[in-house]
Amino acid sequence: MEFKQLSLIAPLLKAITETGYTHPTAIQQKAIPIVLQGNDLIGCAQTGTGKTAAFALPLLQRLEETKTLGKLVPIRALILTPTRELAIQIGDNINLYRKYLKLNYCTIFGGVSQEKQVKEIKKGVDILVATPGRLLDLMNQKIVSLDKIEILILDEADNMLDMGFIHDIKKILTKVPSKRQTLFFSATMPPNIRKFAHGILHKPVEVDV
Ligand code: AMP
Repeated sequence: MEFKQLSLIAPLLKAITETGYTHPTAIQQKAIPIVLQGNDLIGCAQTGTGKTAAFALPLLQRLEETKTLGKLVPIRALILTPTRELAIQIGDNINLYRKYLKLNYCTIFGGVSQEKQVKEIKKGVDILVATPGRLLDLMNQKIVSLDKIEILILDEADNMLDMGFIHDIKKILTKVPSKRQTLFFSATMPPNIRKFAHGILHKPVEVDV
């Protein structure tokens, strides 16, 4: 299969080609059409399968298709991920794929000063990539508001729960609109993770690789 067959818009196809990808991976082939149609998704995939592009590409396309010009944008998409390293990687990937789109992103994580992160958020970002602790911290300080979130992505959900982020995530979820699209990625799907997923997703389509 070719990327062209996935109904991706020209600015994304151009960025994909320049990144050096020639063909979509299995998770990308399966997940991208489902996300573009607006469905909730459970993606069972490990790191290394191309899962970041599987959610980032259709995310960018959906935000681009419903963009309003000229205003200071509220945060429209939130990607939650367990570690600083993953947050940075996801941000770097988004930065490559958004090259020909006018969509901004910001990556936030703990263990460093919040000053630079706060400055960036205040400029207005469409997509926020975050670890749960720092996000909650900035929400409590009223620096981040999630009431305009259209798409929520949980990356490595099993690791986030194993690392004890369940309470943080539950608090974050109470501040995100219930009318939204939610994508849930996890390498493993034990019963507790599946139960958690079904509690926050609406009629999800499940893909496995
Ligand atoms: P991930 O599973 O998202 O961590 O991606 C693993 C690696 O595969 C990253 O270095 C990506 O840049 C790369 N990658 C993602 N999609 C593709 C693709 N379709 N073709 C080649 N490499 C890719």
